[in-house]
Formats: sequence, C-alpha cells, structure tokens
Amino acid sequence: MPLSLDDALTIIAGAVPPMRETETCTLSAALGRVSAKNITAPYALPPFTSTGVDGYAFRHAGNRKTFKIAGSSFAGEPFGGTIAEGEAARIATGAVLPAGADTVAMQETCMLENGMLTITELPIKGANLRLAGGDIAQGEIAIGNNQILRTQDIALLNALNIQTLEVLRPLRIAIASTGLELLQPGMERRAGQIVDTNSLMLTQMLERPGVQVTTLPPLPDDYNATRDALTRAAPQYDIVITTGGVSVGDRDYVRDVLHDEGHVHFWKLAIRPGKPVIAGRMGACVMIGLPGNPVSAFVTAHLIVRAALYALWGRDTALPDGFPIPLAEDISKPEILRAFPRALFTNGWARPCPDQGSNLYTSLTRADGILDLPAGRGTFTRAEPVIYRPFGLLL
Ligand code: AMP
Ligand code: MG
Repeated sequence: MPLSLDDALTIIAGAVPPMRETETCTLSAALGRVSAKNITAPYALPPFTSTGVDGYAFRHAGNRKTFKIAGSSFAGEPFGGTIAEGEAARIATGAVLPAGADTVAMQETCMLENGMLTITELPIKGANLRLAGGDIAQGEIAIGNNQILRTQDIALLNALNIQTLEVLRPLRIAIASTGLELLQPGMERRAGQIVDTNSLMLTQMLERPGVQVTTLPPLPDDYNATRDALTRAAPQYDIVITTGGVSVGDRDYVRDVLHDEGHVHFWKLAIRPGKPVIAGRMGACVMIGLPGNPVSAFVTAHLIVRAALYALWGRDTALPDGFPIPLAEDISKPEILRAFPRALFTNGWARPCPDQGSNLYTSLTRADGILDLPAGRGTFTRAEPVIYRPFGLLL
C-alpha cells in the first residue's frame, strides 16, 4: 500500500532541515521574502494617543459640560500646552490628544458660543480615543520568524519605521525534465515529439521573490546521463526537481539514480493524480521527482514541492486549510486513493472538470483549484460539501 500524502508531508518535515543562511534586505524589496528572526517593535503603535473623530478634547470632570476653548490640535500640528480642568481644545481625526485631556466629544454633540463650548451629550471618560500602544506595544513581536512577508506585513514594518531587515537568502531551485520525446518550445516538431511544457510551467510556478529558479537542459532517458546531470546539479541547489521518468517503465531512471547516489525518502503515494512522485536527497540537496504528465506535475508540485519549500523556510509542511464547498455533481474515484480532481469554484459550487485525465491540459486551464477527496470512499454526491483548495492558496 503506497504512503499517504500526510505521511509524505511529515517525512519531508523531518528530513529537510530549515535553511538558515540570511541576508539583509531593504523593506521595499522585502515583499515575498521570508523573515529570518522575530522583529520586535522599536516603539508602540499608535505611537501617541489620538482621536478617531473630529470634535473637542477635554478633561472629564464629573458633570461639567461647559468649557473654555484653549487652542487646537490638528494632524501634524499638536496643541503645545496642557489642558486644565474646564478647558477644551478643538481636535481633528488623527491629531495628538493634548496633554491634560482624557476624552474627546464628537463635534455633532457640541455647541460653540462666544468662545465657550457646551457639550450637549457628555460622553463617558476616555471616549473617542485611539490609545497609544493599542495596536502593538513597544518590544512586542510585530512579525514572527519564518513569515512570508505580505503587503500588510510590510505596511506594519513601515509604520514602525523598520527599513532594513534580515531575511532568508533566496532558495536555489533547478528544474530538469526527462524524456527523449521532448521537443524544446518553438523548435520544429517531428512525429512522436511533444513540447516540453513542464520546464517552463514549473519555472513560472516557483519563480518568486526568495526563490531563484534555474531551468536545466532536458535529460534523455538514460541512466548515466541522468546520474551525471543530477550529481552535478545537487551541490549547487537547495532543491532539484525532475519531471518524468519516475514510473516503473524500462526507461524510468530517476528513482535508480536517487537510490544509488543519494537516499530515497519515499516513492509512490496513494494519490491521484501524481501517484509515482518520489522524494529524496543527494547530499544536502532535496531531490523531488514529479511525474511527467503535466497535470500530475502541476498538482504534485502544489503538494510536494510546496512542502519542501516550506520545510527549508522553517514553516509547517502540512496543507493549509481548504474550504468545504458543495459539489455541483456526483463524482467517483478509486476508494484507496486520495484524489485531487481539478475543479472550478463558481456561484458557491465546486464544479469538477468533466474529464480528469492526467494528460489533459484543459483539466488545468478550466480549473482554479483542486478538490481534496479522502481515501476510504469511492463516491461523492451532488450537494455534499467537499474540500476545495484554490491553487493560489497552495503555492
Ligand atoms: P513519464 O513519467 O516520463 O512516463 O511521462 C508521462 C507522460 O508525460 C508521457 O506521456 C510524457 O510524454 C509526458 N511528459 C513527460 N515529460 C513531459 C514534459 N516535460 N512536458 C510535457 N509532457 C511530458
Ligand atoms: Mg518519460
């Protein structure tokens, strides 16, 4: 019985140690990079107590409702003095709460006559304030270690005026397809040849800030050539990905080479598509052999290559949460396999592509994610909620 995907992800977590080499990077170049330490706030956010409304700042004193106007506080132009009891200052949204004041009354509840303010609806003490430190306290962890930095994370660091940070150095990934039938894109096609689509597909899928992808020349279906190419590549990359040549055919050599020159963590998973996927290592390099069928390569890259990337980044290799969505039609699969039919999520329904052949590009182009149908069951019926995983949430 082949290994389950969950076991495979756990094996990768245990077998691939986090990559700890770091570099410094400017904040404006940090999008998509992975933080290499906890980043603590050098000062609190908000840095000062301000107000969220336009109105009047005053010192709350029992039932007092009339105040003398002592000045104003606008954004970027704070009140210079201190508000005494019986005084108030005009204040605008975002402006610093003047010293001595503790409450802000909304403009709509105030009347101004001859320089005297009357608050018609007295708010409770402390009303309408945005407290200093209400977002992040000084010294608190703003961004944790091993986070993939998103736009909102960069915004927070910017608010803290952190302009350089330590990130993991880019991962180096090489991709090599295998197969004598492969034609390089754009060349004239001879009978029996097909275009090598996996190389560019995987390159584009993985290229991102923090990942440098190198596309190696395709490998012929030959043991020595495969061995030579992989042993030469392994010391230069963090991950080497091959496609094809992992089945049980006479000319499938990737597994033999991994077995002879390195170590095989697992070969074959109880999944569809992508059953023959293999993972191992050569030296410190993570070796992943994806199946040759582009659909299988696409799906298994989202599951297995992702796990290797995440392990190197010190992150959890388990799949993130998917979404339970009702099935638009009945679907069946082999009971012993966990299946990932390609599907479209429209109008609240998960619509599996009609034809699920792992050689059919249209089962990818007409889909935006996969369903995740567990092993142990063969049929799933219309309207039943199943787990849907958008491609974009996986890689
Ligand atoms: P293999 O795993 O090598 O037996 O390949 C399985 C199927 O995928 C075969 O039909 C191959 O022709 C096809 N295939 C393998 N590699 C590629 C590739 N790089 N691009 C497109 N199709 C491929
Ligand atoms: Mg092949």
